[in-house]
Order: sequence, then C-alpha cells, then structure tokens
Amino acid sequence: MGLGDFFAGKGKGLSFELFPPKTDEGVDLLMGTVKELLEFSPDFFTCTYGAGGSTTSRTLQILEQVKATYNIPVASHLTCVGSTVEQLRNYLDSAIRIGTDYIVALRGDPPKGQAEFTQTVGGLRYANELVELIQSEYPQLGIAVAGYPEVHQEAPNAEADLINLKRKVDAGADIIVTQLFYHNEDFFRFVDRCHTIGINIPIVPGILPVTNLAQIQRIASLCKASLPQAFIDRLEHNLTPEWQFQVGVEFAQAQVADLLNHGVPGVHFYVLNKSQATSEVLKAHWYQA
Ligand SMILES: Cc1cc2nc3c(=O)[nH]c(=O)nc-3n(C[C@H](O)[C@H](O)[C@H](O)COP(=O)(O)OP(=O)(O)OC[C@H]3O[C@@H](n4cnc5c(N)ncnc54)[C@H](O)[C@@H]3O)c2cc1C
Repeated sequence: MGLGDFFAGKGKGLSFELFPPKTDEGVDLLMGTVKELLEFSPDFFTCTYGAGGSTTSRTLQILEQVKATYNIPVASHLTCVGSTVEQLRNYLDSAIRIGTDYIVALRGDPPKGQAEFTQTVGGLRYANELVELIQSEYPQLGIAVAGYPEVHQEAPNAEADLINLKRKVDAGADIIVTQLFYHNEDFFRFVDRCHTIGINIPIVPGILPVTNLAQIQRIASLCKASLPQAFIDRLEHNLTPEWQFQVGVEFAQAQVADLLNHGVPGVHFYVLNKSQATSEVLKAHWYQA
C-alpha cells in the first residue's frame, strides 16, 4: 500500500515512532511495546536514525524484527548527517533487503557539540536532496518528510521554511509528518499555509503525550515546541508520577479529539518506546471520534 493511501482524506491513518534501544534487553522490551500497540491496528511503525548514523544497525534490527514478527509495514528514518551519498545508498540497499517499506527522509540535526549542520564531503546538504535520491534510485520506497508547525529553528522565517518544505514535496514526498506541538492552532495555521502554496499531500500531526514535566521541557526546548502555560501550571501543581501521567494523558486526549474533529488524515505518535500513555489516548478517542 502506498504511504499516502493510509492518510487519504479525513481518516484514521495511524503510525507509531520508536527509537532504537541501546541494549538487547531494551530491544526485547520494545517488542513488548510494539505488541501492545498493535491493538490499535496501526498502519506502520517507524524507527528513528541516530545522529551521524550512530544507531544504523539497531534501527535496521528493530525494523527487521517488527516486520518479521508482526508482518506490518515499517519505515526507517534516515538523515544526511555524516554520510556520503555512497553510504546513504548502502543504507537504503540494506533497508530494502530487510523489508523496509518507507523512508522518513531527513537532513538531521548537527551532531552533539556542533552548533551548525555541516555537509559531509560527498554527502547531501538538505532533506530535499535525499528525497530526490530516493525518488530517482529507490522508487519502490514511499517517502515521508518533516514539517514544522512552529517553523524550523534554523529557518530565517516561516515563508522560507514553507518554500523549503515545498521543495521536499516537489522532489517526491508522499506525506508530511510534523514536529511535535501542543497548540493545535499552530497546526491548523500551518496546514492552511501549506495549502496556500500548493502543498496537497497529507499532513500528519506528530503527537507526543507528555507524562513528565521535566522530560517534555527538555524535548520541547530541543525542538523549540511551545507548551501552553495552563498545561505547565497543571503539571507543576503536583509532581507525582501519577498526576503527571493523568494530566498529560488528558491533555493529549483532548488534543487528538480536537484534531480528529478538524478532519486530520490521521496521527503519528511519538511513543518513546512505551505504550501506556499512547494507549490511554487512543482508548479514549480513537474508536469513537
Ligand atoms: C517526524 C520527524 C522525525 C525525525 N526523525 C529524526 C531522526 O530519526 N533522526 C534525527 O537525527 N533527527 C530526526 N528529526 C529531526 C530533524 O532531523 C531536524 O529537525 C533537522 O534539524 C531538520 O531536518 P529536516 O529533514 O527537516 O531538514 P531540511 O528540510 O533539510 O531543513 C533544514 C533547515 O534548512 C532549511 N532548508 C531546507 N532546504 C533548504 C534549501 N534548499 N535552501 C536553504 N534552506 C533550506 C529549512 O527551512 C530548515 O530550516 C525528526 C524530525 C521530525 C519532525
């Protein structure tokens, strides 16, 4: 099935994003999470790709295991960081060998300790170039790209960021998956602006249910997502894990319900390798909305 088909029109396209654990024990735990999430009949799982290819073999291991065990489509994230085009081709060849269906094509963040992204000699500069490479040499792979409702932090302005997104779409992307966000208005405005410049592929909201204030503040500051003050106040009210979990889940339930009511084509969950919060969100609203 084509990647875009899962999210055609108003619907319930559903994907879950995993990251590669560091240990074999972590991999076993992750497979348990995957099994639990299958209850919601997701369309596919994705697995992230560490800075500079640091997780290459683990990413492929996870995807291979998920696909072989559960016979469900899988997508590998892939970044341009630290790789020549030849190395990117080698990765794509391996991904195809293990049965990868789709690629989330990214430029990637600068490696730790570096302030700016530097193009590897013989490598690629922007994600649109990676999309072009995949589209021309690996047309069997569906392609997702990243979009930023609050504007990518390096973009000079929202307009330039949107033009750059359009470049990725024109290069052959099938869907856009957004950076996590907590103000739905930002997402709706982003979708409107995309439509205005002629981006007509599905735009899938990326949702991270918060279960811990400190953790989300760290993640949100890394990717420059803003948190509603009332939500922070409620989380700060009581720092017990139970309260944090309950408040975070309630917020995500309301957020997803509102997105569905506005006709989004589906949802991509950043599950952070745990099923509980995402499951609670989906149990509450997925079946009824
Ligand atoms: C859904 C999702 C999944 C992610 N998964 C991973 C992952 O697995 N591993 C990881 O390391 N990171 C991941 N990231 C983070 C991502 O790598 C960073 O946000 C990165 O800084 C930008 O990647 P990009 O693909 O959006 O880059 P690009 O689309 O290349 O954009 C990067 C910046 O350059 C600008 N730009 C783009 N093209 C041009 C051009 N032609 N000329 C001038 N400026 C241009 C853009 O406006 C933007 O500011 C993910 C992000 C999202 C939203």
